[in-house]
Amino acid sequence: MDAEILAIGSELLLGTTVDTNTAYLSSQLASIGVNVYRTGMVGDNIERIAACVRESLSRADLLICTGGMGPTVDDVTRDGVALAVGRPLEFHQALYDQVAARFASLRRPMSASNRRQAYIPQGARPIPNPVGTAPCFMIESEHGTVIVLPGVPSEMRYLFEHVVQPYLRDERGVREVILVRVLHAVGLGESVIGERIADLMEQSNPTVGISAKQARYELRIGAKADSPAAAQAMLDSVTTELEARLGSVLIGSETLDQQVVRLLQERNLTLALYEGHVTAPVYTALRHAIRPTTLLRGVTIHPLDSPVPEGVAARAHTGAVNARDHWRSALGLGVEVSATPDERGYHMVVAVLVTPEGPLTQEQYYDLRQRENLNFIGTLGLGMLRRYLLGETTP
Ligand code: ATP
Ligand code: MG
Repeated sequence: MDAEILAIGSELLLGTTVDTNTAYLSSQLASIGVNVYRTGMVGDNIERIAACVRESLSRADLLICTGGMGPTVDDVTRDGVALAVGRPLEFHQALYDQVAARFASLRRPMSASNRRQAYIPQGARPIPNPVGTAPCFMIESEHGTVIVLPGVPSEMRYLFEHVVQPYLRDERGVREVILVRVLHAVGLGESVIGERIADLMEQSNPTVGISAKQARYELRIGAKADSPAAAQAMLDSVTTELEARLGSVLIGSETLDQQVVRLLQERNLTLALYEGHVTAPVYTALRHAIRPTTLLRGVTIHPLDSPVPEGVAARAHTGAVNARDHWRSALGLGVEVSATPDERGYHMVVAVLVTPEGPLTQEQYYDLRQRENLNFIGTLGLGMLRRYLLGETTP
């Protein structure tokens, strides 16, 4: 089954409300094997809503709309959907009574405009809304099925779980399971990783996708099967294959920072940081995972008052040694960035890890004009620490 999602509301187009309903519905539909190839967003306008609904139904079997089901004149979703499927709106006394009962139980006065909420297109099936005032509906037409849910995220989620999912399972035979596993990797370029797993990325089930963020990679495996156990088995076999292809570049389900912290803990090693850059990129990369906090003994950030040696590498090394000695840790990790960029606009970055066995050094060039690229420095430092802790590099 192919589905589309339509988020309705002028506030979404203006950017004052971020559309979270589509993300929720996309992930829910994916997890039960319903393909979503397109989603849309439209303002509170009858004709434009109708056009979007018609267009979606021309492509997909099912359209789920959210928003614009309230009582006010700008809530025109029911009118738009009625226009699209060519059915007039009809008054439902039962829906009116539900809205009235809801207001009575909340001891709030019901306004005349709430009567609008008791109208749904002819032939539509009402969806009672026990968690809000806006009743919803679904309509099965010759063009396809439209399900209309409220805009309020909590109400929308409730109705999706309690009405839409059972409907899809029991009446539309949607029984597949899609499981997704995310694995993390670090160390090779995206194109190198991509080449090693190109054939896996071309398969349609299970699927493998890669996304890169400043030299850290997320590999997403998706498996579609008849049962959770079968989908799990597919994920396991792809994971084994990825381990074989990528070797130690693959971290696993942990993130780089989580793994580094775990390894420090297991080996009972403490760490101190020297950050030559004021934004403390290594600490930034590590801070969410640091637990217990005593593993990180201290951080020295961009000290200005001490005599500094010449050269980026020498400053990184001196910084690492000083931080380790000052904070009395087992390991000292220092990173330093060149004061000026080279002719390409790249800064030289040196990371030095001082260990009981001696120092390790790594040098890279990064374009630091974009602020998010400072994350490269964190990845460089932690990647180096990771290889040392895994015993892959020794001084
Ligand atoms: P109500 O009965 O509360 O009026 P409704 O179905 O008319 O419900 P809207 O008026 O469109 O829904 O939106 C109600 C609330 O839900 C608003 O705060 C709106 O910002 C929020 N909302 C609407 N659509 C979305 C969306 N796609 N993602 C996140 N929030 C949304
Ligand atoms: Mg509304």
